Amino acid sequence: MPTRIEWADESWNPVTGCSPVSIGCEHCYAARMARRLAGRYGYHKADPFTITLRPERLAQPFGWWRPRRMFVVSMGDLFHPDVSEHFRRAVFGVMSYAGEHTYLVLTKRAEAMRTWFAGTSLASCQSAFLRGSWSAAQEAAARHGEQLVRMTHSATSKAIAARHHRAVDGIGNKQWPLPNVWLGVTIEHQSVALMRPQHLAWTPAAVRFICCEPLLGPIDSPNLGLGMPWGVDWVIVGGETGPGARLMRLEWARALRDQCKADGTPFFLKQIGAKRPTPPDLRIRQFPKEITRD
Ligand code: SF4
Repeated sequence: MPTRIEWADESWNPVTGCSPVSIGCEHCYAARMARRLAGRYGYHKADPFTITLRPERLAQPFGWWRPRRMFVVSMGDLFHPDVSEHFRRAVFGVMSYAGEHTYLVLTKRAEAMRTWFAGTSLASCQSAFLRGSWSAAQEAAARHGEQLVRMTHSATSKAIAARHHRAVDGIGNKQWPLPNVWLGVTIEHQSVALMRPQHLAWTPAAVRFICCEPLLGPIDSPNLGLGMPWGVDWVIVGGETGPGARLMRLEWARALRDQCKADGTPFFLKQIGAKRPTPPDLRIRQFPKEITRD
């Protein structure tokens, strides 16, 4: 569905749900939304933010004709340990076959992402998706019952039959890591700024980005890997929003902006939070050089 997140134009949520990992999770937007949707749209009534695999959404990118910049799993975390190995691979399989889109995968579980990539191949992802209409449906059956299974089959096969015989013909992206998948980690505070960028550095990716949102304190920017040979290609900064939002001090954002400028790294300031207007010197919305915002 279209997203209001300024650095993407679509969100794709074949998985929803998560659990907190660090202080940035305290006012999690996705958890708040899930609570609002409890009992509807497949969100569990009693525990709406539990990890929920949604195989009926797997083939959605095949149905979007215009190339999109997609935030993958904006309503959770694809690298949560409760997301099954098979299903995670199937999600990457779709990204390889529906290769006209750009996918942005963002996690706080940087170590899990690194470990997963070390043990995964493109072939296993493509095969997980192609076999997935069966096994994903079985997972759905265990969670949601027969009705969803029928939807799964119909949505998946319709999308493939209508447009994407290339998937069943095995015509997909042959490069790994996928050139159209950008991997990012969230760094909200200095306390997590040591390890997460390190794990990102060791994860193969076409584009690596760091999202400092909500920015909750000053970050010693060399820790982010700016200017390092392995490269951070993009830095996003934002203040916290919503009820109980913690204030982002402008000097924290300015320090990151200046470091990005010095290193030639694109910098994107989303908003400064607390419904404050963004001062002119922080109105910067750069993207990695491969793309331009229309
Ligand atoms: S990791 Fe992200 S999605 Fe998960 S609880 Fe934290 S903020 Fe929410």
